[in-house]
Amino acid sequence: MKRTLTAIALTALFASSAAAEDIELYKEITNNAGKTVPLRYCYDSEGIAVRLRMSSHPNPMDPNYWGAFSSFVPINGPLIDFKPEMLDFSAEVIRFAWEHECGHHALGHVRELFNNYAFNIPQDHKNIMSYELAADCYATRQLAEAGALDEDVLRRIMAAFPANDHSTTHPPTSFRLEHALQCLAP
Ligand SMILES: [Zn+2]
Repeated sequence: MKRTLTAIALTALFASSAAAEDIELYKEITNNAGKTVPLRYCYDSEGIAVRLRMSSHPNPMDPNYWGAFSSFVPINGPLIDFKPEMLDFSAEVIRFAWEHECGHHALGHVRELFNNYAFNIPQDHKNIMSYELAADCYATRQLAEAGALDEDVLRRIMAAFPANDHSTTHPPTSFRLEHALQCLAP
């Protein structure tokens, strides 16, 4: 079944670099409840526009991980992948996921992991968990600045995430919430 997506016209610059029909730079998408989800334009640490790919591609770092992930594919450049289940979530969860993944790009995590490891990250890589917390902080601040997030919203978003107590890449959600709440503090 085709998902409902509203693609916004790209600038000529980016339209000419679109590599495949399902890889676009979206300004807004529609979730499965029919709600419009505005997604901010996102640029990586080199200033390259990050595109959204709706697909079931596995996360190269954590194949069983749900939802969304960010990657760098040489022919496509920086990407944020949304698995189909992302569209089952509320608009605020989807926006947070987008901003979290954008944080991985904007803060240079994705290029670091691609350039050094081609995403075959050693188990003892020390920065992975801290990258997740930094991306949460980035998303929290971006959305708070946009007037789209406060403590209640942040708690609802994190409550929608799996508890994640045994992930090799992500800290437990309860820990992520406590950390993200600190990012809200002035
Ligand atoms: Zn992440």
